[in-house]
Amino acid sequence: TSAPIVDHPRMTVIGTGYLGATHAVCMAALGFDVLGVDVDEGKIEALAEGRTPFFEPGLPEKLREALDSGRLRFTTDFDRAAEFGDIHFVCVGTPQLPGSNAADLRFVDSAFTELARRMTRKALLVGKSTVPIGTASRITAAVQAVSPLGDELELAWNPEFLREGFAVDDTLHPDRLVFGVSSEWAEGQLRAAFRPILDDDTPLVVSDLATAELVKVAANSFLATKISYINAMAEVCEATGADVNQLAVALGYDDRIGPRFLKPGLGFGGGCLPKDIRAFTFRAAELGVGQAVAFLEEVDAINIRRRVRTVDLVRELAGGSLEGVRVAALGAAFKPNSDDVRDAPALDVARMLYLEGASVSVYDPEATENAHRAYPDLDYASSLTEAVTGASVVALLTEWDEFRDADPAALGELVAARHVVDGRHALDADRYRAAGWEYRALGLPAGP
Ligand code: NAD
Repeated sequence: TSAPIVDHPRMTVIGTGYLGATHAVCMAALGFDVLGVDVDEGKIEALAEGRTPFFEPGLPEKLREALDSGRLRFTTDFDRAAEFGDIHFVCVGTPQLPGSNAADLRFVDSAFTELARRMTRKALLVGKSTVPIGTASRITAAVQAVSPLGDELELAWNPEFLREGFAVDDTLHPDRLVFGVSSEWAEGQLRAAFRPILDDDTPLVVSDLATAELVKVAANSFLATKISYINAMAEVCEATGADVNQLAVALGYDDRIGPRFLKPGLGFGGGCLPKDIRAFTFRAAELGVGQAVAFLEEVDAINIRRRVRTVDLVRELAGGSLEGVRVAALGAAFKPNSDDVRDAPALDVARMLYLEGASVSVYDPEATENAHRAYPDLDYASSLTEAVTGASVVALLTEWDEFRDADPAALGELVAARHVVDGRHALDADRYRAAGWEYRALGLPAGP
């Protein structure tokens, strides 16, 4: 704790996925010397050659600039990482444990201990991954037990709030920074690491480790709840003939509620919200406060019901059965401007349609490769035109601009029947109806 603060710290970033690669590139862009580390050799090779292993707008350009500047390099060598860093950011995955709601912490545990056992000089270990409350203090004991540095070794937690699709901007201009620390030295070291961002008047919350861990899961739980709230209202609208879009607009004008994340539709997915709320309920139960967050199980259930209801709408438009019906599934990624298909509502709907006997043609501008790996049984089209040609129902499942911008009259020439389910309230219903389409969407009356 009495160690000096390194003013311009050299950084390692362990785990170079969506979060880590973005963090490494942005830290280099801010002028720091950065070493990116991953166990996936293919990923490290791609990054070192200037190729991002996933789709993220703006990141490839920034990656190449950082490589050219000489401030960013990549390795799979943990010895080199332990020697290089004054501060080590751990950004590895914390997926849902198969068959359980708990988070799988194997990757986090392994990354910290592999690093710690090789460290011979004092440096700060910082977790950025999303973890259950109590993880940091558990890992502190574990790394102190294996490291030559013993109890000199210290952990901090710096949760990450970036959004895929806006990752670079969110990293360079975050709404706030949270430093979970257990010493002034750790706080000082983190302040030095984020100096350029803090100098930009970014709000900072300094807390203990448990609070920092909780901020992230609490924020994601709130966002998931807001989405499921409006989707629960959509269910009520469906039973009454009310219009959930008008409802959302009217609610959103209330400053205390606000319009953001109050968008009804197919609901949330991705590598964060679903597994984070599940891991939170699991951890809360372990802590004896399961009741406090029991509502998150309902948030999850509302969200999943939207997928089932979307399949219902497609079946209704198909005349009551999906057997042999050709459906164009537009979108596979869990949201636009991403190629991430982890727990993607779009793919889940496509899969359910397929299981009911539909012949499903999936098209996504960026996520086809990942989707094919996740669900090889579905058919994948290489263009919007190919996907919709001959379809009896078109289902918009991810709101890419390419789908919003498509001309309903031109699409109408390609399909076998002008039936569209707008799973994201992304299309202009009036334009579609004017072009002869039967238009259906969640939470809206069936229409003229
Ligand atoms: P990801 O799966 O894209 O990346 C994880 C990376 O860690 C992979 O490249 C994997 O090879 C690597 N890895 C696994 N074990 C390793 C080890 N022992 N040593 C080194 N590397 C190892 O996951 P992600 O989306 O980047 O998420 C990472 C963490 O960040 C998760 O906890 C997630 O909840 C959190 N998070 C993600 C986002 C997001 O938008 N993706 C936002 C905020 C927080």
